[in-house]
Amino acid sequence: MTATFVGMPAFPTAAKAALADTQLRRNLAHATGTIRTKRAGVVGEVDDWEELRLAGAAIKDRVLRHLPYYLEQLETSLQAAGATVHWARDAAEANAIVVGIAQQHDAREIVKVKSMATAEIGLNEACEAAGIDAWETDLAELIVQLGDDLPSHILVPAVHRNRAEIREIFLREMGTAGRAAPEGLTDEPAELAAAARAHLREKFLRAKVAVSGANFAVAETGTLTVVESEGNGRMCLTLPEVLVSVVGIEKILPTWDDLEVFLQLLPRSSTGERMNPYTSTWSGVTPGDGPQEVHVVLLDNGRTNVLADEVGRQALRCIRCSACLNVCPVYERTGGHAYGSVYPGPIGAILTPMLRGVGHDKQTDSLPYASSLCGACFEVCPVRIDIPEVLVHLRAEVVDAHKAAPGLPSVQDMAMKAASWTLSSSGRIGAAEKVSGLGGRLINKLGGHAAPGGAPMLGALPGPAAAWAGSRDVPVPAEESFRAWWERTDGGRAETGDGPGVNGHGTNGVGDR
Ligand code: SF4
Repeated sequence: MTATFVGMPAFPTAAKAALADTQLRRNLAHATGTIRTKRAGVVGEVDDWEELRLAGAAIKDRVLRHLPYYLEQLETSLQAAGATVHWARDAAEANAIVVGIAQQHDAREIVKVKSMATAEIGLNEACEAAGIDAWETDLAELIVQLGDDLPSHILVPAVHRNRAEIREIFLREMGTAGRAAPEGLTDEPAELAAAARAHLREKFLRAKVAVSGANFAVAETGTLTVVESEGNGRMCLTLPEVLVSVVGIEKILPTWDDLEVFLQLLPRSSTGERMNPYTSTWSGVTPGDGPQEVHVVLLDNGRTNVLADEVGRQALRCIRCSACLNVCPVYERTGGHAYGSVYPGPIGAILTPMLRGVGHDKQTDSLPYASSLCGACFEVCPVRIDIPEVLVHLRAEVVDAHKAAPGLPSVQDMAMKAASWTLSSSGRIGAAEKVSGLGGRLINKLGGHAAPGGAPMLGALPGPAAAWAGSRDVPVPAEESFRAWWERTDGGRAETGDGPGVNGHGTNGVGDR
């Protein structure tokens, strides 16, 4: 089971395929609509929600301003509590550390919880290459893993699956990975959950090594925190002898008191709950209780690149609540696979290019364009990340990255140069307006159509404009431009009878002709 995002097509291509999948769109519309409504309800109950958002953003910004200080404080606190701290610059280093620890304990299988950071580094694939089975224990992650599928949502990775599909996956795959699903399993949620519980319990009791992520890491006390809804986290974090936590360096909070803010912001923004069912915290080793060997891998993997980006660094405030996905009109229609990354939706569209580096590949560079810039993501973000601002900033970086590349100028370069030349002279603008009116009418005659309101739209455009016009309705240019109308009617006075008429006095005209 090694499905991977590697080699995914650029967003426009992947989105086109996703849009054609009506079942996917139905599942997504239902799931995101439900979570959206729940979130809006519980957020509306909190009088000081905006103050909480401001506090969350301020705490995270303080951490980012003094990251080296807080990282060293966290390391010292963790070591004092009996944990071993490892530093990983990239995915390869992090995977080598985790696989090495599992091998030292002759572990042939590990159980996992809060897997986003480990999905980012491809830990399951690295384990498989070393002959170690890595098992996901979040219900939705389990469905994705058994289905040899890819996650499509931060909070609900199997959001694209419906109950009937999940039942089929359980019946077909559970037996190959451990305890089989009971015969006669129906698609009732309670029965599906019971099958998953029985399947996972065997693994919890058998595994010697667990791997976790963390929602927060408190620097002053060396406390890691996992917030979850199913209790699988509690099992992973307490039953195995060895616990390895892979934690992004942006997960730090300075003090224990700061948790108060985030434990209000996170559940309401993610699951639409006032409080999440399970909050587990641990600090190193407690003799005779829980894992007796605790490792923490502090992961960079591109995060310092994000920190160096003055506009983009606000993305490191993200607490992975997924609220931005659930309100995004683009995500709701395409789902998460189209983003070709562990981080889908609006946050993925900015975080992935910054982690990988703009100019890395065509797929990565397509992500900042996977947005209508409507701003709904900023409205709901509990830590006030201005995603549209970062998207626009990254679009400029993508353009610059391609400008700098050697070789022939791109179509976009040429179009921008032509636009710049035209727009720098009012005479040239006037000529272009005449040509566009004529050209539009001509192209429309060859294959135009009407938009839902009846407004005439251009049909398919030829050449490089074909892709651009293929994904939007392009209105037919007006037969008469505003400038021509102004001159003909003396700014409208000739039509209303208020003025001296065409070419009369009272206007300086427009332009230099
Ligand atoms: S960007 Fe904001 S809304 Fe989106 S997942 Fe992160 S914290 Fe949540």
